Amino acid sequence: MPSLAKNKSKSLKPKKVALKNGHKNGTKNGIRVSAKTAVLKKAAKVIDKVIGKATGKAAGQLGKPGKRTYFFGGSGKADGTKEMKNLLGGKGANLAEMANIGLPVPPGFTITTEVCTEFYANGKKLPKALDAEVRAAITKMEKVVGAKFGDPSNPLLVSVRSGARASMPGMMDTILNLGLNDKTAEGLAKKSGNARFVYDSYRRFVAMYGDVVLGMKPENKEDHDPFDVILEHKKQACGVTVDSELPADALKELVAEFKAEIKAKVGRDFPTDPYAQLEGAIKAVFQSWQNDRANLYRRLNNIPAEWGTAVNVQAMVFGNKGADCATGVCFTRDPASGENMFYGEYLVNAQGEDVVAGIRTPEKIETLGNVLPKAYKELLDIRKKLEKHYKEMQDIEFTIENGKLYMLQCRNGKRTGFAGVRIAVEMVDEKLISKEEALRRVEPEALNQLLRPVFLPAAKTAAVAEGRLLAKGLPAGPGAATGKVVFFADEAEALAEKGEKNLILCRHETSPEDIRGMNASLGFMTAFGGMTSHAALVARQMGKVCIVGCDALSFDYHARQMKVQTANGEVIVKEGDWISIDGFAGEVINGRVDTTPSEVIRVLIEKNLDAKDAPVYQRYAKLMSWADAARKLRVRANADQPDQAEASVAFGAEGIGLCRTEHMFFGEGKIGPMREMIVAETEEIRRAALDKLLPLQREDFAGLFRAMKGRPVTVRTLDPPLHEFLPHDESGIAELARDTGKSVEQVKARIADLKESNPMLGHRGCRLGITYPEITEMQARAIFEAAIDVAGEGQPVFPEIMIPLVGTKKELDLQAALVRSTADAVFAERGKKVGYMVGTMIEVPRAAMTADKIAETAEFFSFGTNDLTQMTYGLSRDDVPRVLAAYQSRDIYQVDPFVSIDRDGVGALVKMAVEKGRATKPKLKLGICGEHGGDAASVEFCHEVGLDYVSCSPYRLPIARLAAAQAALK
Ligand code: ADP
Ligand code: MG
Ligand code: MG
Repeated sequence: MPSLAKNKSKSLKPKKVALKNGHKNGTKNGIRVSAKTAVLKKAAKVIDKVIGKATGKAAGQLGKPGKRTYFFGGSGKADGTKEMKNLLGGKGANLAEMANIGLPVPPGFTITTEVCTEFYANGKKLPKALDAEVRAAITKMEKVVGAKFGDPSNPLLVSVRSGARASMPGMMDTILNLGLNDKTAEGLAKKSGNARFVYDSYRRFVAMYGDVVLGMKPENKEDHDPFDVILEHKKQACGVTVDSELPADALKELVAEFKAEIKAKVGRDFPTDPYAQLEGAIKAVFQSWQNDRANLYRRLNNIPAEWGTAVNVQAMVFGNKGADCATGVCFTRDPASGENMFYGEYLVNAQGEDVVAGIRTPEKIETLGNVLPKAYKELLDIRKKLEKHYKEMQDIEFTIENGKLYMLQCRNGKRTGFAGVRIAVEMVDEKLISKEEALRRVEPEALNQLLRPVFLPAAKTAAVAEGRLLAKGLPAGPGAATGKVVFFADEAEALAEKGEKNLILCRHETSPEDIRGMNASLGFMTAFGGMTSHAALVARQMGKVCIVGCDALSFDYHARQMKVQTANGEVIVKEGDWISIDGFAGEVINGRVDTTPSEVIRVLIEKNLDAKDAPVYQRYAKLMSWADAARKLRVRANADQPDQAEASVAFGAEGIGLCRTEHMFFGEGKIGPMREMIVAETEEIRRAALDKLLPLQREDFAGLFRAMKGRPVTVRTLDPPLHEFLPHDESGIAELARDTGKSVEQVKARIADLKESNPMLGHRGCRLGITYPEITEMQARAIFEAAIDVAGEGQPVFPEIMIPLVGTKKELDLQAALVRSTADAVFAERGKKVGYMVGTMIEVPRAAMTADKIAETAEFFSFGTNDLTQMTYGLSRDDVPRVLAAYQSRDIYQVDPFVSIDRDGVGALVKMAVEKGRATKPKLKLGICGEHGGDAASVEFCHEVGLDYVSCSPYRLPIARLAAAQAALK
């Protein structure tokens, strides 16, 4: 995707200050540097150090040792292939691949990612040997093109393009038309007979080079890009509205004015020697790997700093030479819906990033056939050829020069979750890929989108009828979002940190500097840009609701409001006002609009939509059936209520892996007796309260067993510290005093009595059941009585009683014996038996280390990785937000260990417990029930260590099923 923004867009609009600007005394050109920015800067330094030490990390790849540049284009095979992404970056590898399969690619060469590592290791100097290789490659390009770099009468111009292993759209920098100076420009104008094109190219080059290499940036977020300001004046002076209408003279003047501005602002002369220009550009691209934007993007996407970027130097082709020239961006299928249709945009007489930067509104690709029929036909053929070759949806960039088509980039296209599922399933139907490949393709997390709400049709219809439909834009990110308007990304971020969840970021356009704020918002919309703009792309990647190109909006950032031109006149929307955006239809609605569940939810959970009328559901179901056939791990749900249990079954649960009984006590009629039980001073009073709880608990379990229809149900005995159940407000305390016949003072004293200095590590888990055995006894009784009741209804039942927080075998022995004797008593009373198991959670490090002993008693283990992570790190899950950002920016934690399992530490304990447990009992059943059970990377780990099942919250089940299938297919 061409890099929108980077302060390059050419119209007059406020630009965010680039993060890489220098700053003094905590201010950056007058703007306060947020703590986060400071953290980012420090992180960059740390990474500098790390990189400085890393050497030869990209070695051992397919490339030749010592070879620093790889040629592509022209006749003959390219030096590289698509397999060489690590060495050549994605862009370089695919340029080579496209050249190899005979597509028209302008010649050029790729400087490897290893050189990037060398560059950082050398204190940001290019290796000496590179120069000769670059000169040789340029000579080769000159032969293919028939022009000479720096030749005043026939100059070769090149682009210098970044390209890392993983695509990082717009994160790093690209420079076009390099090689121009006053002499070569004049020569080229003479040779081409097209001065307008030459000076258009020249002014673009000076602006890009000024920005990327010489550091010309807007001074603060409300400011305009300095080159845009000059350009805008020029347009006004010439009485034109779009830059393509500027005459050659005006463009030539711009070149001089841009250079003068650079000299004035950064005090540097614009380099005229093409090789000096080239060296500056290559260095700048390497340096852009470490800019704050790129650092942040890498962190969000778990891309290690050590990878480095490649640099591509490529002969220019020109889409800005006139009416038979164009430039464009396409997807071989619709990246939002996944529909198998050619999808894209182009601009006639334009260059580079004009399409995404929204200089002019781009045209739909379907109309290219009317303008440039020959090139369009070729593009359609290439679309087919690429999909057949890559067997994947491709995102392509092309330029047409005087009717001739050139391919400038291809890569696997980013897509929404909807599109991901649709493309994978349909490519199987089209026999392009296998089912296994389809399973590998879909990002498990993306399945979330299929479960996301849409607007309530009635609410939306009503809103429209009330005249609240404000505008229509392009639907770039599906889903429905309703929230408060915020205009600046940094402010969205700050509000989100304060807990504001419902934010809609509204901007003229977005740029890579905005990604943090975009991440913090429910959705975003822009006035400018098409389906391939930065906002659209980020939305697809982050799975956010998004509308772009909504040109009825105009922004007044200073007044913090936007004006919307509607059919009924002008509407002003202010910061903090509510709006709703429909990312399916592209519609913006004033005020709040209620949302409703998705197709999948309606078919599966609400059962008010027939599967045959739900195409999204059908594709989801197909993919899930393939996943179920492929996976080895079983999946269970964490659920405590019958409705949750039913939802779990609908989402594919094969059992309940964790029923937290404490949740049940907060239900109606239960918290009273529970509190009585807790404040009781004698066993007798406690038993009396427990007797009241018994029938209520029994009904809870019966409901769960019925909903699970014979699937195993793991019930955990009471786990949290008792004080959590007590009232903490005066009225609650008074009520409890009344109910127990105690004085308010007595109740308060009891509450104070139960207060612990560190409840998380206190009187909780099996410690409760050991100090108050009657609690475990009541719970066990409720479980077995319910099981026998439900079995009596003709339904199979299989309870698994799980003892929490065990750290020594003896704890489990005592609790297991109690459970078993209670079972015997109930079976004797009822004259009936049910099968059951008694096991334990492994969530205390000591339990993992003594798992061989514990397994003598336990019939199953379930890894409670929330507590296990907490205790392994000595960091409570609830307090992790305090350190997380700082730790991640310093690369101390790559990811939140409570979200994705820490393989090295917590994982090692799990592995040890698996081995020790199975050494004692080879058939020991093993599962996981922490939050990690619904995280794709953790599921993969569970598969690797040989667990029998993962258990997660119901709505994460589709993710777990797919992740389990992917793990099995690895
Ligand atoms: P990004 O990685 O941000 O997408 P690119 O390196 O792809 O940046 O460059 C952005 C755009 O610049 C390309 O899509 C293309 O339109 C234009 N461009 C790059 N190199 C050339 C070239 N050699 N000839 C013509 N246009 C080019
Ligand atoms: Mg590109
Ligand atoms: Mg626990």
